[in-house]
Amino acid sequence: MVVSETFWVIFSMAHPDWLRIRIQDKPGFTDTLRVVKESAVRTVCEDASCPNLNECWAKKTATFLIMGEFCTRNCGFCDIKNGRPQPLDPDEPGRIAQAVLALGLKYVVLTSVTRDDLMDGGAQHFSEVIMAIRNINCELEVEVLTPDFQACMDSAIETILAVRPTVFAHNLEIVKKYHHIVKRKPSSYETSMTFLKKLRNRVTTKTGIMVGVGESKRDVFDFMDEISDIGIDILTIGQYLAPSRGHHPVARYVSPEEFDEYRDYGERRGIKLVCSGPLVRSSYRARESFQLVCNLK
Ligand code: SF4
Repeated sequence: MVVSETFWVIFSMAHPDWLRIRIQDKPGFTDTLRVVKESAVRTVCEDASCPNLNECWAKKTATFLIMGEFCTRNCGFCDIKNGRPQPLDPDEPGRIAQAVLALGLKYVVLTSVTRDDLMDGGAQHFSEVIMAIRNINCELEVEVLTPDFQACMDSAIETILAVRPTVFAHNLEIVKKYHHIVKRKPSSYETSMTFLKKLRNRVTTKTGIMVGVGESKRDVFDFMDEISDIGIDILTIGQYLAPSRGHHPVARYVSPEEFDEYRDYGERRGIKLVCSGPLVRSSYRARESFQLVCNLK
C-alpha cells in the first residue's frame, strides 16, 4: 500500500461504526512519511495495510519491517507479499538507525518477513539492527516481533536475547482451531507455543491474535487459559480484517463489549496486560503497553 498525504476514509460502509475511521493529515504524519521515504526503510504499517497508520504516524511512531518485502510463507490473512526474497541488505541496520534518530523514537518496534531461506532465519540480522539502534543511544528500548525460526529456533532465540531486546514478541495470530486453516505450513500452533515457552522468565514476552476469523468466545477463553499458563506478559487481541477478497474472509465483527470481556478474562487469568479492542495490533501503542507492564512489576 502506498500512503498518500491526502484526506481519506478507510473501510467501506459495510463495516460497523466502531471500525470506520476518518483520516486527516497531521504534521507528524507528513514528517514520518518523509523520514520513511528518505531513509528507504520499510514499515509493516504500510506493507500490512495497518488501519492505525494515520494515528501512529501522526505521533511519529512506526514499526520497521526488515529483511525485504517478500515473505517465504503465504498465510491466508496477511497482506505482505509472498515471493523469492532478495539477499539481505548490509546497509539496512544503518538506515533503520538513521530513521530512528530522525523520528526521535525512544521505543523502537522491529519486525520482519519470514526468511526460511536463510540458515539462521535472519536472527543475526535482527541482532545487527538492534545493535545499530543502540549505537545511537544505548538506552533506546527495542521490541522485536519475530517469526518462529523453525529448525534454528534455539540458536536464533539466543542470538537475539544476547543483544537484550526490551520485549520479545511472537504472534500466535489465530486460536488453535483455525490456526492450520489461516496460517500456512511450515507454521504451526504447536511450533509457536514452543517458541514462546522458550522465552519464559528470560525477557518480557508478548503475543497476539486476531479474532473474527471463525472462532467462538470459548475458543478465545481457552486460548487465554493456555497462554496464561506459559507466563506471557502482554497479549494483544484485535479484529481480523481481510486485506482483499482473495484472503481468508472475515467471519464476524466482534463488538467492543466482547473485546472488553476478553481483556477482563485474560487479566483475571494472570496475563499482566491484555490490550483488546477492534483496532488493536501487536505494535499498537507498544511503548505505552511496555510502560504499563513495567509499572506492574
Ligand atoms: S499499529 Fe503498529 S503497524 Fe499499525 S500503524 Fe501503528 S505502529 Fe504501524
